[in-house]
Amino acid sequence: MKGSSAPAETWQPTACILCSRNCGVEVAVEDGHLKRIRGDKASPLSRGYICQKATRLEHYQNNADRLSAPLRRRPDGSFEEVSWEVAVAEIAGRIRAIRDAHGGRALAYYGGGGQGNHLGGVYGRGLVAAMRTRYHYSALAQEKTGDFWVNGRLFGRQTCHVAEAVEEAENLFAAGISSLFASLDGCVFSRIEDICEVVRGGSPRPAGSPTYYGGDIPFFKVGDLTKDDGKFLYTAESSVNDLGRAQSRFIEADTLMLTNSGATLGVPKITKIAGCFNDGSQAFLNLQRSVNIEFAYYFFKSKTPWFREVSARGQGQPNLNTAMTRRMEMPVPTLDVQRRIVSELDGLHVEVNALKAAQVETAAELDALLPSLLDRAFKGEL
Ligand code: SF4
Repeated sequence: MKGSSAPAETWQPTACILCSRNCGVEVAVEDGHLKRIRGDKASPLSRGYICQKATRLEHYQNNADRLSAPLRRRPDGSFEEVSWEVAVAEIAGRIRAIRDAHGGRALAYYGGGGQGNHLGGVYGRGLVAAMRTRYHYSALAQEKTGDFWVNGRLFGRQTCHVAEAVEEAENLFAAGISSLFASLDGCVFSRIEDICEVVRGGSPRPAGSPTYYGGDIPFFKVGDLTKDDGKFLYTAESSVNDLGRAQSRFIEADTLMLTNSGATLGVPKITKIAGCFNDGSQAFLNLQRSVNIEFAYYFFKSKTPWFREVSARGQGQPNLNTAMTRRMEMPVPTLDVQRRIVSELDGLHVEVNALKAAQVETAAELDALLPSLLDRAFKGEL
């Protein structure tokens, strides 16, 4: 109708709890109902993704069969509604009586997450302890029985999940680095352009021409900086000669660099050899003595997700220009504090790498053992 318009929807951010991923969702609520549901693009975890289960949250929340109050069975088999106080007291009394008469082995717990709603998991742990039972069942049995069975055979515990360790290890480092820099909120901040000179590299053209390439001067490209997640750069795949050097930019050893284009932009590295670098990276020259270069390295590493998000906005090819980097502000605590933070992050990095290596090794062993275990299982030898 001309002149009328529907009221604008109000979207509220929340999280889906139907499985352990906890994807970020936004919901439009009206009269207690979830009128519309969509993925939350601002969620750092899921970045707008949701699966089909989350789109049916309204059904799970408000379907006609959902119980809204405890029901107690009458002697004739029908049900009567009782209060939560009555229900909890009666159930607790009966569980206690069974446990005292027969021990925890007479009881089992079902629920607590994974493939189903895990909101009750926290309370469930307390309940399991109170029941003194070792029997715990959940909806994970629907799709993970093979995984659990193999883990039980290999590690002696079916609850040993090896598959997610790499992801968790990386998250551990990301959480450590961001919490350390967040703790510096109250200290002095300096603009990057005030503590060093930011320059972009140069690429002799045409690329690969023997006029410029193939000399004895290392030539750093983005791939050299991103090939591993270590702090230092020791080698370069390409090289240039003196003519190439004149068309590029030369940096000394112990210079901090940052990739600035493509999908892998925002990766810092400290070169331990002198050389030239192409226009896919920038470098920070003449760093003030009040700044520890490894502290600056970790600062830029903490910003990698932000670089990628900001630089990708409204552009086809993500690109980080030097003007943006120059305007950034970096916390500059005392050198002692900077060194302590570098030391803590170095230690965390070592632990995370050890976790990842153990995971890779275990996954390879698992892959190798699975066929023989299954073979023995089907022969009835297990
Ligand atoms: S059920 Fe789907 S949307 Fe919900 S947390 Fe799990 S994967 Fe994400």
